[in-house]
Amino acid sequence: MPKAKETVLEIDLGALTHNFNYLKSKLRPQTRFLAVVKAFAYGSDSVEIAKHLQKLNVDYFAVAYTKEGVALRDAGITTPILVLHPQPTNFKLIIERCLEPSIYNAKVLNEFIKVAEQEKQSNYPVHIKFNTGLNRLGFWGNDVDYVVSKLKHTTSITVKSLFSHLAASEDANEIDFTQRQIENFKGIAKAFKTKIDYQPWLHICNTSGVLNYPDAHFDMVRCGIGLYGFGNSEKEDKNLKPIANLKSVISQIHKIEKDETVGYNRAYKAKGFEKTATIPIGHADGITRIYGNGRGYVIINGKKAPIVGNVCMDMIMVNITDIDCKEGDEVIIFDTDHKASHFAQYANTISYEILTAVSQRVKRLFINSI
Ligand SMILES: *Cc1c(COP(=O)(O)O)cnc(C)c1O
Repeated sequence: MPKAKETVLEIDLGALTHNFNYLKSKLRPQTRFLAVVKAFAYGSDSVEIAKHLQKLNVDYFAVAYTKEGVALRDAGITTPILVLHPQPTNFKLIIERCLEPSIYNAKVLNEFIKVAEQEKQSNYPVHIKFNTGLNRLGFWGNDVDYVVSKLKHTTSITVKSLFSHLAASEDANEIDFTQRQIENFKGIAKAFKTKIDYQPWLHICNTSGVLNYPDAHFDMVRCGIGLYGFGNSEKEDKNLKPIANLKSVISQIHKIEKDETVGYNRAYKAKGFEKTATIPIGHADGITRIYGNGRGYVIINGKKAPIVGNVCMDMIMVNITDIDCKEGDEVIIFDTDHKASHFAQYANTISYEILTAVSQRVKRLFINSI
């Protein structure tokens, strides 16, 4: 692999194929695969990721907001797209761009029906979200009769699926709670299906749900983090490949004497003769200030270099006193060997947050596309 010459997020499409195939191998053949590509496909690039997955015949996409779905349509993505968290102000646009809304409460249901009728739609596909314990979005189980009564009074929409979301599918201490969520969902789905004369699909599993609850795959699963190479456990991380490598380069090396300081607010003071390297990546690129002052490390020529002083907007300084390196050498923030999930731990956070934090300013470079 060529060494980085500037700050770059390398995106390994071969690893994406591997992860997709691995997750699919966990499913029964008839279970559909929805790829969650919200937040720029977890900080990578939603358009290139969606194009690649569309070639692999993924069944569905999901995004969080309408704008994200529009971007995929603008890029020529034709696979169905579920919008997980739409707002009524975007319903006309949703219909214009053939996006499929999650309907999560009475207000959204009534507004969507109103707009679908205005737009002279018939059987427009929607997905009804039920809350089974996450207490974030969704109708409650006792809303089934209300939702069905609304459906009986319009031909403008049709329910493509009923779904829910697990609160702790990755957590072995919460198996009982998760099983109760699944049972609750089954009960809701059964009640719903007996009251209408067609069969919407059912889905509840995210990546950890797919891996830990094989009996709850139902008709479709919704995978995000697994596609990007993380399985929320050491065991599963071994079966997946991180698709994103964040790399940079040493811009400049400084030699400083004892008691000289580094960076804004003079937050770091040298303990003796030291060498520091300045790297062109800062909080505007996704390295939050939490990583400053020795909390975070980067890798230079295989060795850990701690971040010294405060993280700046466009750069960090790292201590390279004991590292043999020169200006222009490659710097690894995270990659397949130094995982983003590990880098996340320095800041007490999780892979999801680190990946999605890589800002749009960072150049994306696609590798292994065939
Ligand atoms: C983000 C999201 C997912 C994907 O979860 P992963 O843990 O990344 O697989 C699935 N479903 C919903 C509703 C989501 O918001």
